[in-house]
Amino acid sequence: MKADLVVRGGDVVLEGAAVRADVAVTGGVVTAITREPVDAATVVDATGCLVLPGGVDAHVHLSGGGGPEGAPTWADDWESGTRAAAAGGVTTVGNMTVPREGESLTDAVRRVGADVAAQSLVDVLLHPVVAGEQHLDPAQLAVLRELGQTSIKVFTVIDAYSAHRQRFYAFMAEAGRQGFLTVVHCEDAELIGWSTAHLAEQGRADFRAYGESRPDTAEEAAVAQLIAFAETSGTPVYVVHLSSARALAACAAARSRGVPVYVETRPLYLHLTEELLQAEDGAKYIGQPPLRRAADVDALWAGLRFGTVDTVATDHAPWTLAEKLAAGDQLDELRPGVADLETVRPMLFSAGVLTGRISLARFVELTATNPARLFGVYPRKGVIAPGSDADLVVWDPAETRVVDGSRMQSRAGYSPYDGTVVTGWPREVLSRGELVVSGGAVVAGPGRGQLLQRGLTAPR
Ligand SMILES: [Zn+2]
Repeated sequence: MKADLVVRGGDVVLEGAAVRADVAVTGGVVTAITREPVDAATVVDATGCLVLPGGVDAHVHLSGGGGPEGAPTWADDWESGTRAAAAGGVTTVGNMTVPREGESLTDAVRRVGADVAAQSLVDVLLHPVVAGEQHLDPAQLAVLRELGQTSIKVFTVIDAYSAHRQRFYAFMAEAGRQGFLTVVHCEDAELIGWSTAHLAEQGRADFRAYGESRPDTAEEAAVAQLIAFAETSGTPVYVVHLSSARALAACAAARSRGVPVYVETRPLYLHLTEELLQAEDGAKYIGQPPLRRAADVDALWAGLRFGTVDTVATDHAPWTLAEKLAAGDQLDELRPGVADLETVRPMLFSAGVLTGRISLARFVELTATNPARLFGVYPRKGVIAPGSDADLVVWDPAETRVVDGSRMQSRAGYSPYDGTVVTGWPREVLSRGELVVSGGAVVAGPGRGQLLQRGLTAPR
């Protein structure tokens, strides 16, 4: 058989099992998974490696926070952020897209879509952020669908949500009726506000009090409220960066009643615990929500294993170490977010698959197949199958590196996992049949990434 390119001799991870086979690629698409000889101009040797579908990280922040021009924003832009993605074996990212002052959801998608086309190395889907009551316009949903974007992002912690929750419910319910998935940051704003004020009265306003200012009860309360909405209205909802055992238990119980609630967690909550926030440099671990206890970590790993957690996404929103540490004095000035696109899959493979905590099949579901299904890009993305995009990762399961953020692609310049020994890294990465990483080095340039035209959510 003839092809443009063949990935030869690897163990190809298909849905359910790995098989020794060659993957033939023509026109950027997988044409066959075969043991027949493939005659191709380009041969990618995968001997001794796994061949995985490219990762789908549904939750990143690469286009700024939507604040005023010139306001401080995250360290990575589309170029550096998607270089980090490629290096980590992630070939599709889902970006939280915050409208600028006066901008509609659809205008934000058009503006950021143009940036994607000019600057991104990998493919992209966009979640427009409902940043205020001015965005609660159901007429926008049909236009978003025409633009190929079929999800919206809601934060329960913003003033507008507290002030206009019934109108948010109406908008989310209409989005659900039109086949959108609503992704939600779940923490209870009033509990956080009270906790923060209470700590300040005790003279505790620095980063060491951060965990207490955003307790797991605040996450649990917001999740319970969201579940009540989803159950009452039948609206599908996706909880981002779930961090605690209590909130996970609420989601698992709701799912057992048939409520359409999906759960994402994030590497910070799988690999680190709250004691780190008491260290001298504890501010560098700040994320929203905060790090939790070892019992929460164990509960999340059980959720990964048994299927109550659907996806692992990064919430990649990095700052430089100097920025993180400089903002550590006041709870309301902290800079939440870390770089994780390059480490999410290797860390999960190393700490999960190699230890037997999760299977290889679950690893692929959590980091590729499930997010592709939930966000309407399956089977184009998230699976190796004839007709799917040739987003392929030649994964060396034996390569060991010590994490060193100063040598990685993100402009953060550090990693919260610096010094961690991690086994299992991408060696070659293909996006639509094009080598974007070769021998572990990023070889693609900006401007080849595409804004994906998505279908409706296709829950499992
Ligand atoms: Zn986020």
